Amino acid sequence: MRILIIGGGIAGSAAALALHKAGFEAAVYEAHPKNGEDLGAFLTLASNGMRSLGQLGAAEAVAGLGFPLTGLRLLDATGATLADTPLGGRDDPLTRFRCLRRADLAAALQQEVRRRGIPINHGARLSSLTEDAAGVTATFADGRTASGNLLIGADGLNSKVRSLISPAEPRYAGQKVFYGYTTEAPQAEDSEQITMIRGSATAFGAACSPTGQTYWFARVTSPRATADEIATMTSSQWRDHLLPLVEPDNTPAAAIIAATSDQLMVTNAVDLPLGLRWHTLRTLIIGDAAHAASPATGQGASMAMEDAVVLAKALRDAPSMSGALADYERVRRPRVEDNIAASAALSAGRPPARDGADSRPVALSDDELARQLEWRTPLPTR
Ligand SMILES: Cc1cc2nc3c(=O)[nH]c(=O)nc-3n(C[C@H](O)[C@H](O)[C@H](O)COP(=O)(O)OP(=O)(O)OC[C@H]3O[C@@H](n4cnc5c(N)ncnc54)[C@H](O)[C@@H]3O)c2cc1C
Repeated sequence: MRILIIGGGIAGSAAALALHKAGFEAAVYEAHPKNGEDLGAFLTLASNGMRSLGQLGAAEAVAGLGFPLTGLRLLDATGATLADTPLGGRDDPLTRFRCLRRADLAAALQQEVRRRGIPINHGARLSSLTEDAAGVTATFADGRTASGNLLIGADGLNSKVRSLISPAEPRYAGQKVFYGYTTEAPQAEDSEQITMIRGSATAFGAACSPTGQTYWFARVTSPRATADEIATMTSSQWRDHLLPLVEPDNTPAAAIIAATSDQLMVTNAVDLPLGLRWHTLRTLIIGDAAHAASPATGQGASMAMEDAVVLAKALRDAPSMSGALADYERVRRPRVEDNIAASAALSAGRPPARDGADSRPVALSDDELARQLEWRTPLPTR
């Protein structure tokens, strides 16, 4: 079976590794001429993401990136410690949480894809597709075409593939997200620990690399930043906008933000509606294209890696493609939609509802998730 993967970001590269491991012929088509554009922001790769990569033999490829996080300290606006907990997977360097730049993660995964002989076609921006019982054909903006048995849309938040099979626009989740880096923070955080702060007007997080660079973010409930503001406002203007919101609190946040000079950027937190159609006969969307969540739970990249493993297992084991796509959706939808809802709740300042409250599915237990991800184990039948 020949599988076309549209998008060579986190989901597309992980899917290429997983489908190749399952014995399929996969090829990646990435719009950007090189590795892809990037804001320079960082993300947290959680232990479930690392475990997923481990099932693909690719955990080593990212275990040297960024730095590990083994503990989480939660403070309130007075600086009091509310919780001090170990993070999952901390005992194994290949399953530890990692804090790393998205661009480095994407580049490492693409390199691993190439190392395994899977083609990545850069500068291939999908513009349309056609499908029938015989196959699916993708047409790219430069006139190139490619045909296969299945097309995977891993083309991110503003997915072209989604617009063709299940049009839906990302929704503003109510928060601007500030990201910054500084080597000048007066009190560096403990290495391997992420400090999260429930401030009076922000949700703040910071971690310090072993080389002394503090990575931080702040989520602020506010009207969305306009395209003009994002294009024209400088780091120092955004810093001066943010500082008065954290200064009243008795926490390390204000000093870290004040010590940030030119490496500060802002995005709008967005997510996708629940219940989108994910597939047709021969086309499927995965990753942010299907289930982008606002960043509050920090699970975007890890969910994309889980998608890859479950999809490859479904296609490997099901007797038909339609059965495989149905199996994939049955297993993945509760998990990723729970994440969208939990992240939306956090962004709105509500604790995430659990245990079926809010008419939402119950989150998976660790054992259930491990069974879904374990390469040799078939997917659960119900
Ligand atoms: C620039 C950028 C910065 C990000 N920063 C953060 C962050 O700081 N924290 C966080 O948690 N998450 C961040 N994310 C999101 C995070 O990377 C995703 O949640 C997660 O990695 C899922 O990845 P994905 O592969 O589904 O989507 P993406 O990582 O967005 O990858 C999609 C890929 O598809 C390509 N593409 C798009 N349209 C087409 C087309 N028509 N044809 C072919 N290829 C196409 C894009 O160039 C891109 O390489 C960022 C994403 C981007 C693109």
